[in-house]
Amino acid sequence: MSTTITHFINGVETAGHGDRHQPVYNPATGQVTGELRLADRTDIDAVVAAAKAASAGWAETSLTKRTAVLFRFRELLAANVQELARVVTREHGKVVSDAAGEVGRGLEVVEYACGAPQSLKGGYSDAVSTGIDVFSFRQPLGVVAGITPFNFPVMVPLWMAPVAIVTGNTFILKPSERDPSASLFLARLWKDAGLPDGVFNVLQGDKEAVDGLLTHPDVDGVSFVGSTPIARHVHETATRHGKRVQALGGAKNHAVVMPDADLDLAAEHITAAAFGSAGQRCMAISVAVAVGSAAENLVARLKERAEAVKVANGMEPDADMGPVITPNARSRLQKIVGEAQEDGAALIVDGRELVVKGHEDGFFVGPTVLDHVRREMTAYREEIFGPVLAVLRVDSMEEALEVINSNPYGNGTAIFTASGAYARAFTRGVRVGMVGINVPLPVPVAWHSFGGWNESLFGDHHIYGPDGVHFYTRGKVVTQRWPEPTQLSGASFAFPSS
Ligand code: NAD
Repeated sequence: MSTTITHFINGVETAGHGDRHQPVYNPATGQVTGELRLADRTDIDAVVAAAKAASAGWAETSLTKRTAVLFRFRELLAANVQELARVVTREHGKVVSDAAGEVGRGLEVVEYACGAPQSLKGGYSDAVSTGIDVFSFRQPLGVVAGITPFNFPVMVPLWMAPVAIVTGNTFILKPSERDPSASLFLARLWKDAGLPDGVFNVLQGDKEAVDGLLTHPDVDGVSFVGSTPIARHVHETATRHGKRVQALGGAKNHAVVMPDADLDLAAEHITAAAFGSAGQRCMAISVAVAVGSAAENLVARLKERAEAVKVANGMEPDADMGPVITPNARSRLQKIVGEAQEDGAALIVDGRELVVKGHEDGFFVGPTVLDHVRREMTAYREEIFGPVLAVLRVDSMEEALEVINSNPYGNGTAIFTASGAYARAFTRGVRVGMVGINVPLPVPVAWHSFGGWNESLFGDHHIYGPDGVHFYTRGKVVTQRWPEPTQLSGASFAFPSS
């Protein structure tokens, strides 16, 4: 059965004015499950007007009351993890346990936001000059938009909204067109938590909705997470229109395996990090860089483990991996793997033609491992965003570092080693924003911030954690004097030094 997926504007689910719409699929069955409304100009103006109208009142709501809403939202989210996970799996395809994991990581950011009274605490300098004190504090930007990708329809919106809202902003979420239903589930939870209408809104749509928000004079800030070309477009356009912008882009994440590493541990974790969520994670390991003698034994172990991955409908409790998001994503991947093979890569595990019984119309593809990949191959240069692991062989850690540091992306990376000295040299020398030591997916916990370097992030702020608080607020510094009437004297014409 196909349902209409609407906007959520000023506390109300509404079909809006736009006459365009597009189908939403269950990638495991290939069937249409929803009809998504796509915003037009009137809808964009309506959602921004609602967020702007709610802005002053919400910013003036005491921090204690704002935080109380966050605590209630936290409880509701925690009570709905499983149901929300199933909503995600139906439209994204990832296995339910992984979807529940993404809700859990979002929940962590909500919990961080519950601590806003601590993170918003300002600074005070007593008596910096005779009778003069200075204090600084932070105030909200106003109306902020969050534009999010398909691969984490709950976690990525929750990287943004809780921090934006608790710091006093109103928020417009523009979710991915591919799996939009989770955004409405979140909107209902916010409402049930007592958030005033207009503080959290959802605008469904495509480029028209995004560009409308980026150029709208009443939008003050934009957080974006998605692919690098769109991140660049968002950063350039919104900056040109005077907004504060953070735009997180794509990735090509390398895991370096040193000869001294525990190869079973490395292969186990790299397999999970390469094929979990069908490789559709911005922190997925897509390149294993095998150093020296590690290569042969590592590849043998990766083959064994990749072949053991159970690919199935993500709703099945024992599934390891579900489908990819669209038939296009699958055919692009199949083409890139074929070209790599023609160019001399060794196809160790070939998942291209996998068919899942009973799900012949699903968008499935199996884990694929390519060995002897070279840097000039498309399979290395492009973000495939599917279950394909490329193995590159190098002679030393220095060469591994050179490979990673020449790559245009810089989101995450990992090293597997038993040596603290290797780990330290790697961590300090690698030009990547998030580094794991024997940890393949080093997604920072919520009280640190998340962000890549190079073409994986445009803007000055990482997302959530302390950087998130800074991004969604502006600093204000006050210099005050409260003179006794007897102390009133003429102002000095020189720069004060008392
Ligand atoms: P995408 O860039 O296609 O879409 C992201 C958002 O941009 C969506 O809301 C979409 O509607 C909008 N959009 C798409 N095309 C647009 C256009 N031409 N103009 C304006 N807006 C447009 O990304 P995706 O396919 O949904 O997600 C996968 C990508 O996101 C991968 O590249 C992945 O690495 C990246 N990602 C990065 C991070 C990170 O933290 N750096 C996290 C998750 C995903």
